[in-house]
Amino acid sequence: MPKPTIDAPSPKAAPPEVYPVGLSFDVEEHFRIETAAHLEVTAELKEAYARRMEDATRWLLDQLGERGIRATFFVVGQIARSHPRLVRRMAEEGHEVGSHSWQHKRVHQFDATSFREDLRQSMDALSDATGQPVVGFRAPTFSVMRQTSWAIDVLAEAGLLYDSSIFPVRHDRYGVPDAPRSAFVVEGERRELLELPPLTLRAFGQNLPVAGGGYFRLFPLAVMRRGIEQAAQRSHSPAVLYFHPWEFDPEQPRLPLTRLSRFRTYVGVNRTRGRLLRLLAGHRFTTLRDLAERMGPSRDQLPRFRLVA
Ligand SMILES: [Zn+2]
Repeated sequence: MPKPTIDAPSPKAAPPEVYPVGLSFDVEEHFRIETAAHLEVTAELKEAYARRMEDATRWLLDQLGERGIRATFFVVGQIARSHPRLVRRMAEEGHEVGSHSWQHKRVHQFDATSFREDLRQSMDALSDATGQPVVGFRAPTFSVMRQTSWAIDVLAEAGLLYDSSIFPVRHDRYGVPDAPRSAFVVEGERRELLELPPLTLRAFGQNLPVAGGGYFRLFPLAVMRRGIEQAAQRSHSPAVLYFHPWEFDPEQPRLPLTRLSRFRTYVGVNRTRGRLLRLLAGHRFTTLRDLAERMGPSRDQLPRFRLVA
């Protein structure tokens, strides 16, 4: 019997490819967060946070494993030296291990030479722990911005496949509000790199950072889901989400932060475990490396964005 023929849709009418959601975790001990950078933290408290980071990360790995979900863990390089078994477990269970810098300093604190060294140190430590090359980077506090555009050259020269540090939002600490919201090719001074920006929701005439953080903890899950739906309607636009192990540790000791920072950091931490599990039940997920590889063939069709000020 002849196969029925179907009229091929015209290229314009073809709906955009719907990608699995890119799931990422930025793995750092809680005292390393930017809002606590000015605090003196005792060695004892640092040790307590390191133990809690490990427990919370194991909980995350257990949940992902039970559901057959693979994610990207952007890990601080020093953690690969202090907790090599934890980092090896991530890779053994099929997750991607990317770099979250050597010790979680913002990119603004470096020049190109010292940033290259910091990146190299973290990539070496991570690949020593996993036996696999590092291909992705997430800057602490999304600190790849106009002022730090030279970082793109350094990341590309290090042989990375992608970056996921440019947040297309207006925020007091980070963001490049006019950067594309879909996957794009970011141009540094001499080199370029594939960028997978965290998810934003277009509402009230601006880009809201619904990829994680306070938006995940404070607002109903429906807000993040609306962002995921919007992304599915745009071309080459996988939704990229991010979380931290400490966000799933409601019993952790609180850092003595200012009122605003305390609110931003701890709002909703009591309900994140259940909320994450509901999120995991509702979507297909994958690693950012997988998304970057899927973007490869259509790289010429991606928007280009020049970061240099
Ligand atoms: Zn971080």
